[in-house]
Amino acid sequence: MNLIVASNNTGKISEIRALLSPIDVYSPGDLDVNIEVEETGDSFYANALLKASAFAKETGMTALADDSGLQVEILNGRPGIHSARFGPPELDDRGRCELLLKHLVNYPAVENRKARFCCAMVATSPEGRQCESIAYCEGHITSQITGDGGFGYDPVFFVKSHNCTMAQLSKTTKNSISHRGKALKAIRPKLINLLKEI
Ligand code: IMP
Repeated sequence: MNLIVASNNTGKISEIRALLSPIDVYSPGDLDVNIEVEETGDSFYANALLKASAFAKETGMTALADDSGLQVEILNGRPGIHSARFGPPELDDRGRCELLLKHLVNYPAVENRKARFCCAMVATSPEGRQCESIAYCEGHITSQITGDGGFGYDPVFFVKSHNCTMAQLSKTTKNSISHRGKALKAIRPKLINLLKEI
């Protein structure tokens, strides 16, 4: 059972390999595939579908894609699908965390800082058969940057069950509770069925 993942992010690929065993998971780099897909969808699901469909069409393989981001309740779900591009283009991950904290400076109470990570996963076969999953990880935005693990908004995302930010969790613990880990676990049986049908 072969699968191409529409991402060259090594962290993501190794997480996907670990959780999707015994499926043989390839990255675009493994197969010398180079496809740029513009994320023009208006939802995480739509963007994941765009990526999975483009990779399946181009490679003739079943392709898996995800799209994820952070939704802050009091900001009406922003930064949402624009999480990677929140604020001016010169900002890095830390700059985007600082910008988010500035947006919330007038809302110090925890109940006004509710947020969730969302991950949509879509797999598409070259014939257009499809399966998907969507999962969330709930938390709130801290008042300061804390922890140096993970990436993106991890240092400002507080996970109540572990009493720390996502950036203070080990990789294994993060994968076990994260939106991406949950979405992968949910799509696994559907994906195995889809691959068996081919
Ligand atoms: P992508 O779907 O992996 O491209 O993620 C889009 C953006 O959402 C990232 O650049 C991060 O800013 C944010 N994001 C998604 N997942 C996470 C996570 O697990 N931790 C922190 N930030 C995340």
